[in-house]
Amino acid sequence: MLIVDCDKCIGCGVCEANCPFGAITVVDGCAVVGETCTLCGICVDDCEPVALHIEGGERIQNVDLDAWSGVWTFAEFRHGHVAPVTFELLGVGRTLADQRGVQLSAVLLGAGVEQYADQLIAAGADTVYLVDNPGLGQYREDVYGRVLEQLIQEKKPEVVLAGATAIGRSVIPQVAHALNAGLTADCTQLSIREEDGMLLQTRPAFGGNIMATIECPQSRPQMATVRPKVMAPIEPDFNRTGEVVHVEIPAEMFVSKVEVLESVLGDQEQINIQEIEVLVAGGRGLEDEKGFDLIRELAEELGGALAASRAAVDAGWIAYPHQVGQTGKTVCPKLYIACGISGAIQHAVGMQSAETVVAINRDANAPIFDIATYGVVGDLFEIVPILAKKIREARK
Ligand SMILES: Cc1cc2nc3c(=O)[nH]c(=O)nc-3n(C[C@H](O)[C@H](O)[C@H](O)COP(=O)(O)OP(=O)(O)OC[C@H]3O[C@@H](n4cnc5c(N)ncnc54)[C@H](O)[C@@H]3O)c2cc1C
Repeated sequence: MLIVDCDKCIGCGVCEANCPFGAITVVDGCAVVGETCTLCGICVDDCEPVALHIEGGERIQNVDLDAWSGVWTFAEFRHGHVAPVTFELLGVGRTLADQRGVQLSAVLLGAGVEQYADQLIAAGADTVYLVDNPGLGQYREDVYGRVLEQLIQEKKPEVVLAGATAIGRSVIPQVAHALNAGLTADCTQLSIREEDGMLLQTRPAFGGNIMATIECPQSRPQMATVRPKVMAPIEPDFNRTGEVVHVEIPAEMFVSKVEVLESVLGDQEQINIQEIEVLVAGGRGLEDEKGFDLIRELAEELGGALAASRAAVDAGWIAYPHQVGQTGKTVCPKLYIACGISGAIQHAVGMQSAETVVAINRDANAPIFDIATYGVVGDLFEIVPILAKKIREARK
């Protein structure tokens, strides 16, 4: 809660002028706080007479920032392998750690996972904190959260990164809340500010129309999630050496409210468009789900898979795991063929780093042509079958 001390307030109006949410008004020489206050704290920093303070914020402000050091990545392990996003996090984590002159560590939780520590060291980690325990064999949010929280409290890393996957998105907010730390979800860029070593966390905001850079100046660790395929892994080097630290966790930490009876991969989860090199994507221009049969043929000719815009997914023509974009997946294939997709910013953010983009659209002014390597203006129902035929012939 933002508290105003009217004995100290001089009614200068600096807080009123600087509040981005229009939440403060000066009435009769004293600031009055309205309902739109988000407790961002800008007014507190700007108030020279120190007439404003946030009640409940003292705990955050008393953190000794210098006591926290090192960059950590959460090494997600599922379905018998380390999730690819882990290596991408280690790639960006390596850069951040080198800039800060600190260690890069990976935290690996699971049962029978010790053999995977070498992969993490090869991908850039200096240290792997390994908690290898049957109690971690199945992902249970409360247990994973508790173990991570304890490790972070004990070792005090300044930065903690995790994948914006189903697991990362469920466990990391819980940990951030328990630690009273700041968390920025779905970052597309991470960097270190040279002057003070602050982690700058950039992500799309306001429906993807602006990029916002977020910092956590008063709390530690600085926590961020990053979507798969947004950052690049470094080339693995199996000659790298690092330390594997076996961490013992008391048995009571594994007590859970959750009992996992069975873990199965759904049919749809088996399609991971993020790991496929050729994607043929369809949008509203396909008109109905039969349109996907047309582009499926093209995808099969190219040994690729189907992707889609949200419009096509919302219409029920194809399942959500195929959706590309801000609320879908970020993909980085070698070839992305967009058929009947306009190229709205929310779609473009999910596919614009594809190596080659081919767009087929009957509207020559569609924004997809701004990011396309090759554009075909015309009716997809005529062009796609010709393209599939030509590819078939060429392959023969
Ligand atoms: C918060 C938020 C999050 C969002 N997240 C996503 C997301 O993750 N992914 C996403 O895709 N969208 C997302 N959207 C929606 C996005 O803004 C667009 O509405 C959506 O991408 C449009 O899909 P589309 O291109 O298939 O449809 P449209 O914009 O309707 O475009 C259809 C295109 O097909 C072309 N066309 C029509 N018929 C033919 C034909 N016969 N031959 C050739 N071309 C043809 C048209 O010229 C047109 O360009 C989000 C929106 C919001 C607000």
